[in-house]
Amino acid sequence: MVANGAEGEPGSVKDRFVMVTRPLDVLAGVATAARAVAAREAVIYLKGSFAEAAAALQAALARASFDVPPVTVRRGEDGYIAGEETAVLETLEGRRAWPRPKPPLPAAVGFHGRPTLVQNVETLARVPAAVADPVAYRARETTLVSLWGHVRSPGIHEVPLGTSIRRIVEEQGGGAPDGIGMIFPAGPSCAPLTSSQADVPLEPDALRAAGSALGTAALLVIGATACPMAVGASLAGFFAREACGQCPPCVVGTANLARVLRALESGEARASDLAHLSEAAGFMSDHGYCAHGRTAAAAVGGLLKRFPDDVGAHLAARGCPRPANRPDPFGPDSPERAAIEAALERATRAHAPRDAH
Ligand code: SF4
Repeated sequence: MVANGAEGEPGSVKDRFVMVTRPLDVLAGVATAARAVAAREAVIYLKGSFAEAAAALQAALARASFDVPPVTVRRGEDGYIAGEETAVLETLEGRRAWPRPKPPLPAAVGFHGRPTLVQNVETLARVPAAVADPVAYRARETTLVSLWGHVRSPGIHEVPLGTSIRRIVEEQGGGAPDGIGMIFPAGPSCAPLTSSQADVPLEPDALRAAGSALGTAALLVIGATACPMAVGASLAGFFAREACGQCPPCVVGTANLARVLRALESGEARASDLAHLSEAAGFMSDHGYCAHGRTAAAAVGGLLKRFPDDVGAHLAARGCPRPANRPDPFGPDSPERAAIEAALERATRAHAPRDAH
């Protein structure tokens, strides 16, 4: 089995937080899951730059006394797509971190052709508590939220599943100084919600019903004075940058999305560009080895659908009506990403490993 700790979603820091502060919970979850699937070996897989998490897990392994198959900690590439479950398997087998076509799924044909369970490290860290008392676990189910963007205090918080987004922003994030303009509950991997949807509970079914997703709960808040089309250009740029290059519909489609959104933001787009975009999005949704192109089409398409007035204003003005506030939250060097990474550092310093198995 493979415990996937190759967290790469912009704004998501919860996996690193769990691995550094609760490594024994991760190992206990690995042990339980490995027993459940009769795994012969287990690998905890991290990105190359996650040295602190690797050290915490190694230290925990040295003092753990679980009845488990051999567990190793491996670090691989740093790219976003390298964390996709089949790309992880490719890396572990010594090849380039590219997703495999599916089916077959890893549960049928995985590591070196053997059935392989691939599961996220935070999910695994929750397994011991869920197995020990399932009823109590269900009754008090929580989720770890990486709250980032235009809030007073970006940070990582554990909240009851189903807490309203507005409450999380107010109580955990100290509020949004400019008001809430857009909300991405799953970082870039979802269509954004509007400010009128801020009372939606943070849980999968409610978010799906609202046309978005929970994903990694990398909850990005964009202020009400920021230009939504600039955020759309940032979002589309992220997907274009991170397409791995294997599938032409994804590579060409994400590049087109990025081009049109940049043109829209700067006022150079035409209405006909948008018509092409929905055609391309439909094609991307059906093709590709992984969900990257499909997610790009849904996230960017959802943004354009949710903010039609801003689309219209940019087309009519042939420019950006809010030129002074055009954030690039999904850009590699964005201040929003730097702030949540800094919050992770503070949080891991404040929470020494607390397990005592
Ligand atoms: S869909 Fe995109 S990211 Fe996924 S394998 Fe194909 S080219 Fe790579």
